[in-house]
This record gives sequence, C-alpha cells and structure tokens, in this order.
Amino acid sequence: MTAGAAGRHLQDLGGGCYAWLQPPGCWGFANSGLIVDGGQGLVVDTQNDMPMASAFHSAIQSMSGAPSVDVVVNTHGDGDHWNGNQLFDGATIIASEATLADIRGHWLDPSKIDAYAQGDSAFAEFMRWRLAVFAYDGWRPVHPNQTYTGQLPLDVGKISVELREFGPAHTSGDTIVWVPGAGVLYSGDLLFTASTPIMWGGPLSRCVQACDRILGLEPRTIVPGHGPIIGPEGIVPIRDYLAFVLDYAKTAYQQGKSPREAYRELDLSRWGDWPHLSRTYQNISLVYRELDPQNFKGDVRDTLNVVYGDDHGDWRSLPATSTG
Ligand SMILES: [Zn+2]
Repeated sequence: MTAGAAGRHLQDLGGGCYAWLQPPGCWGFANSGLIVDGGQGLVVDTQNDMPMASAFHSAIQSMSGAPSVDVVVNTHGDGDHWNGNQLFDGATIIASEATLADIRGHWLDPSKIDAYAQGDSAFAEFMRWRLAVFAYDGWRPVHPNQTYTGQLPLDVGKISVELREFGPAHTSGDTIVWVPGAGVLYSGDLLFTASTPIMWGGPLSRCVQACDRILGLEPRTIVPGHGPIIGPEGIVPIRDYLAFVLDYAKTAYQQGKSPREAYRELDLSRWGDWPHLSRTYQNISLVYRELDPQNFKGDVRDTLNVVYGDDHGDWRSLPATSTG
C-alpha cells in the first residue's frame, strides 16, 4: 500500500490491477487506475489538477519495483480524466479518435475557468469554487498521441488488456479498460457510484446500453469514473436510473412539457440520498436534445445554471481543497 495525500493509496485489486480513488467522487474528483506487470505499467486517467496528479504519480514511483509507465489511457475527454497527462509525458497516451476530438475542442480546460468565473450566475459561482479547490499552476495541455476506434488489445507485461469504445454515451468517445484475466474493468464516466450520474454526449439510450455491455463482460470488480469500487450488482441501480430518466423524459416531451417542467415535476427522493440529484436536469435535457435538436440545442451554461443553482446540486458542501 502506498499512501498519498489525505490517505489516498493504490488499492490492490489483484491480478496486477490497482485503483487510485479520489473521494468524495463528486465534481472534479475522478478515479484513476494502474495495471502493472514485469516492470511495465499502464495508467488509466491522470487526475484533475496538479496536486492530485502529482500525488498519484508519486504513489506509483513509490511502489516497490516501481513500473515504468509506458502507456496512459484517457477514458474520455473531460478534463478531470486527462488534465494530469503532463506527469506522464513521454508515455504513449491512447484515447479513442472521438475522445481526442473532444479534448481538442474542450470547453472547460483549466485555461478557460477564469473567464467562466465572472458574474453572478450559479454557473460562475461554481467556477469560482473550482478555482478555489483545484490548483492548475504549471498546467499545460498534453493530448493523446495515439488513437483507435472500436477495440484495441494491449499487453502490459504478460497481462492482456482490452480497450473497448463504448461511446458515444457519456461523451462522444468513451473507452472502457478491461482486464479479463483479473476480472477488473475501469469504466470511466459510464459509471458514477454513490452520486448521480451525469451524461453529456448521449444518446442516453447508449448510456443504458453501455451498462448492459459492461455487465455482459461479467467483470468481478469495477472501478468507476467517480465514486467507490463496485461489483456487477452495483451497476444495476445506475442502469435503472438512466433507463427511468430516458423513458420519463420521452413521455414528458410527448406531453409537451418543457425540460424544466419535467424536472420540477419529478420526485427525486426515489433515489434517496444520492448526491447531486440536480444532474438529472442535464440528463433530461439530453433526451430532449436527441428527440428535437432544432428546439432543444441545450446551451451548456443555461443547463448548468439549473444544475448548480438547484438545492439538489449540493456541491457547496464539497471539500475546500483537492488534496485536503
Ligand atoms: Zn469525470
């Protein structure tokens, strides 16, 4: 066990697979993975900010028989999964073709947060929280330097690893990293555990299918993009939530309701104490955009003003630093 900041450590999942979890798993607190054999290492996602990425990198360096990280996989294009790529500069950094396009066009890389933090909106307030919590001094964009589509087999020492493109779903190009010999699967943000999933790219039906495809691989252990590790049974409530929201939003659209009406009328208490239930508004808006792109283009700032401004957003209770 290698301790990092705030008690974070590389959790041994067996079969050469490790998880680096980032509690509380909410906005910007994304997990990483590591696969090691024969002195070689493959990293899955590189953390959101510089202190988080450094802590993860140091933990790998501190392992007995520290591997050389030759390969990094970015599961998708959200910054909390690739902002730390520069710590692994020199490695082959792999992403799906669609993810590289997302990264090149990313609307929220660290260089843009300052501009978004101006003004009185809930969106701007959230961006000020991000600036206060996450540290990007010295950040520079390091993009994937190898892409694939569909499927890519890799070897880490003697461990067989498969990259499979399950996007478009959470974003336009989601990759899962599957280690069949160990039964370990790194899902990226196709799965959020212990908080409400939020899907950006869609279609939402593909997010439901992604859950089914993950279940179909019969993994023993799943490291989600955010939140605690789960077994396959942990996928079911996530799948059911997504399938419910999909059906609910379709019906609401057919009834002529606006996305806001649909959201306001939905009893969120059925999901108990999941944090950030206001993300449901984004998921509903995504379905409207799919059904009627002309009328529901879905301006991300308008949507996020609801997501962050709503009482169910509850991000204000999150930690005051990324490593505290
Ligand atoms: Zn994420």
